[in-house]
Amino acid sequence: MNQFVILLGGNMGDRLGYLAEAKQRITQSCGSIAQESRVYESEAWGFESEHNFLNQAIVLQSQFDAFQLLQHLQAIEKSLGRQSKGGGYQSRTLDLDILFFGNHIIEKEELIIPHPRIATRKFTLLCVDELIPNFIHPVLQISIHQLLHDCNDPSKVWIYE
Ligand code: ADP
Ligand code: MG
Repeated sequence: MNQFVILLGGNMGDRLGYLAEAKQRITQSCGSIAQESRVYESEAWGFESEHNFLNQAIVLQSQFDAFQLLQHLQAIEKSLGRQSKGGGYQSRTLDLDILFFGNHIIEKEELIIPHPRIATRKFTLLCVDELIPNFIHPVLQISIHQLLHDCNDPSKVWIYE
């Protein structure tokens, strides 16, 4: 069984509803969700938007390899109304990013694991720190908790009640 950490996020429409629906579809088609972080809200990161993001991380146990999982996650994004696939960070109903695949390192054009922007984003680290604080990032060789401590992302992130 393969273990993945996935970050769910979105800033359009019924944000909590999209997270719930995405988790249900992930459970139906990809494997079982072993852990879920709390949901965090944050101001849009790296671009201007009046729509705040909600983010949540999950630990997924799956029989899929990373490329199969990516395909399924992209199908779920699409089925839940994700519009464009342009470059850069932008508004979306649902974004599903694979953060970690055990200790594996993958560096392909279509799939980079660990996800390249984990350490620079406080909202990502806060979510992941709830699940696997002592996990050592296989590339950076620093624990999630330490990465969070060291992160100088100034953006505002808070628990979404
Ligand atoms: P972002 O998540 O960076 O805001 P997108 O969700 O639009 O942007 O992703 C663009 C592309 O990123 C996808 O087509 C996918 O092939 C690629 N990608 C590379 N590494 C990953 C990963 N670890 N998880 C999800 N997508 C990834
Ligand atoms: Mg993405």
